[in-house]
Amino acid sequence: MRVFVMGGGVIGVATAYYLARDGHEVEVVERAERLALDASSGNAGLIAPGHAFSWASPAAPGLLFRSLVGREVAIRVRLRPDPELVRFGIRFLRECTSSRSETNTLASFRLCAYSQELLHDVVREERLDYGPVSQGVLYVYRDPRGLERDFERSRILRELGREQDVLDPDACIALEPALAGARGRLAGAILDPGDESGDCERFTNELAARCRARGVRFRLGTTARALEADGTRVTGIVTDAGVLRADAYVIALGVDSPALARSVGQRLPVYPAKGYSATFPIRGEHRPPAHGGVDEATLVAWSNLGDRLRMSSTAEFAGHDRGHRERDFANISRLARELLPRAADYAAGEYRACLRPMTPGGPPLIGFGQYPNLLVNTGHGHSGWAMACGSGKLAADLVSGRPPEIDVRGLDVPR
Ligand SMILES: Cc1cc2nc3c(=O)[nH]c(=O)nc-3n(C[C@H](O)[C@H](O)[C@H](O)COP(=O)(O)OP(=O)(O)OC[C@H]3O[C@@H](n4cnc5c(N)ncnc54)[C@H](O)[C@@H]3O)c2cc1C
Repeated sequence: MRVFVMGGGVIGVATAYYLARDGHEVEVVERAERLALDASSGNAGLIAPGHAFSWASPAAPGLLFRSLVGREVAIRVRLRPDPELVRFGIRFLRECTSSRSETNTLASFRLCAYSQELLHDVVREERLDYGPVSQGVLYVYRDPRGLERDFERSRILRELGREQDVLDPDACIALEPALAGARGRLAGAILDPGDESGDCERFTNELAARCRARGVRFRLGTTARALEADGTRVTGIVTDAGVLRADAYVIALGVDSPALARSVGQRLPVYPAKGYSATFPIRGEHRPPAHGGVDEATLVAWSNLGDRLRMSSTAEFAGHDRGHRERDFANISRLARELLPRAADYAAGEYRACLRPMTPGGPPLIGFGQYPNLLVNTGHGHSGWAMACGSGKLAADLVSGRPPEIDVRGLDVPR
């Protein structure tokens, strides 16, 4: 079958890879001149099934309220006359009950755990190098009550066999000496020994090279402007380089997926959650962390990418704006100063903002919606790197007519 995959981020490239392995003739349409330049290159790098918790939780309405009254919190809303934001906000709040939050977390966890297994297989079979750090991720707390509350929250994952351990400050520093300067501030950490980190942009480009070797064609610098349909099937993609026709189409355009899907009446409840990302050089004199981590006070996440330290923070619901100012990185600067003061050259940072494609509940949308030849693979929110291989494989299974290997409840695309 001839298949066009729209979007050359980690999700589109992973989808193209599994489709090519199934013997399909695959082309990827990407508007940038290089792959994985959007969310897939700015993320924190964590591959963390152990942190697959849904953001829509009983605690979220309180956080949003504090943001609206001007308090500095990790989740922010910029109120603006945007009907999409209002619709998304109402649906998000509906997902904040404890039972919806648990159901969503479990759907995301299933996909992340499946994806991590596939990632290991692909890396071994295709000999990929993406700077993996596979010795666990530390979730760091400054407040003992937060640590206790979140360890209780992770019970649903532990009941499924996920190992998570509480470390006191001494054990935490013994495991991660880069935190030694923060001894007085730490209440402890939760260690998930199975969580990992790695460079998502590098992985995407290495995987794309293996795709090319399998005959996948990449049309870079090509923007999908709209879809064409005849009422029952999608018949083409209108691009700035003409109309492209195939048997099946995959939408993996991250935050731009809803706009394109709307051109043929397909609704996708995906809204951008802006995040701030900073990358600092690591040189010989620095003491970088050996593990990926998250500071649960500020929700700043970090990972060691070898010669660089990546830190990312904040979820801001502010439309498609990618602008950033110095003060947007205040949480990252605070974390660098307080927890990891000698980890990297903080004077030489590269700063940017990028957009997570969020669904109201958290799990992505993977499957067919209104059209039997238009597969949707988007809405991976804060865990798209962790979910990429699993999402690509599920998409290829569905296009090839094979039953998925995991329970896909919760990933449905609206019809
Ligand atoms: C600050 C931040 C931190 C994060 N941290 C983590 C983390 O630690 N772990 C984790 O698992 N996930 C993390 N994520 C989430 C993860 O990065 C995303 O879920 C994932 O990258 C989404 O991949 P994607 O391929 O769907 O989207 P993208 O990477 O955004 O790719 C979409 C592609 O589509 C292209 N495109 C868009 N419109 C068009 C068009 N009309 N025509 C052609 N091409 C088009 C874009 O150029 C882009 O290349 C983080 C995200 C952010 C923003």
